[in-house]
Amino acid sequence: MTYEKRKPALSKEEIDELRDDLILADSLTRIENTLMILSGKGGVGKSTVAVNLATALAASDREVGLLDIDIHGPSVPMLLKLEGAQIPGVNERGMVPVRYNDHLKVMSMEFVVKDQTHEAVIWRGPMKHRMIRQFIAEVDWGDLDFLIVDAPPGTGDEPLSICQMAPPRSQAVIVTTPQKVALKDVRKSIRFCKSLGMPVFGIIENMSGFVCPECGATHQLFDSGGGERLALETGFRFLGRIPIDPRLVVTSDEGKPFVLEYPSSPTTDAFDKIIGPILDLSPPRLKRH
Ligand code: ADP
Repeated sequence: MTYEKRKPALSKEEIDELRDDLILADSLTRIENTLMILSGKGGVGKSTVAVNLATALAASDREVGLLDIDIHGPSVPMLLKLEGAQIPGVNERGMVPVRYNDHLKVMSMEFVVKDQTHEAVIWRGPMKHRMIRQFIAEVDWGDLDFLIVDAPPGTGDEPLSICQMAPPRSQAVIVTTPQKVALKDVRKSIRFCKSLGMPVFGIIENMSGFVCPECGATHQLFDSGGGERLALETGFRFLGRIPIDPRLVVTSDEGKPFVLEYPSSPTTDAFDKIIGPILDLSPPRLKRH
């Protein structure tokens, strides 16, 4: 009797690719909710909001990942005093994020790119696309209640690639300021999310009103409330307003999350109010069945 040597149904490369896809699918199912923090333009406080939301959620005993994917200006490392940090390693699921505290892990382009001056050379064309994919899909987050993604501002190619590659169950949180011109950009962001089929979880109005450094009271300024009106008009949830607080600039420069530095303040109250409906997306682990 002769035995024919049977050709394997799949090549080694195909098997490796399948294996990678399975690992990837498994990693992504371990992330319960992803919130893409978007803004129509830069400078509205998107990164500040992303960092403080992530820290506040982690302080509420949720497992949180913070992904800084703002390729041209990663600011999360500075806001958390993690400049110079490097990822602890890479395993078969991908890059291991930097641990900030018991409930918060952080990943930033800055943790893998050593020479910042090569930025323009490194992030070009297909390589940029591949790097973005790696940052979305090949990070070993473990079990997360929330992945908070600090995306690049605007509605151009980069946020587009990122949102197209976003994990399942991703929703957008749009950060804006109250001025009319910013609200025009929010409408653009809403159209952008619609075209991608990404649900908008809600809108945050940052720099709305002013916390007086002398008396601690919040004063409403002429322009406040535009984000709320827009949310009402468009039917999206208004998550809340964050006042202009001069101490927020100081804590940001010092790399300390405001909500941890000033737990009793109108600004932290504003963040706490905003995270209410977000926490409802994922009840505390002990209470789950
Ligand atoms: P973006 O990510 O949208 O470009 P940043 O988060 O980098 O914006 O914020 C831009 C600047 O505004 C930073 O100096 C930050 O400290 C400041 N900032 C953001 N939000 C507030 C706020 N509510 N009160 C005072 N300063 C703020």
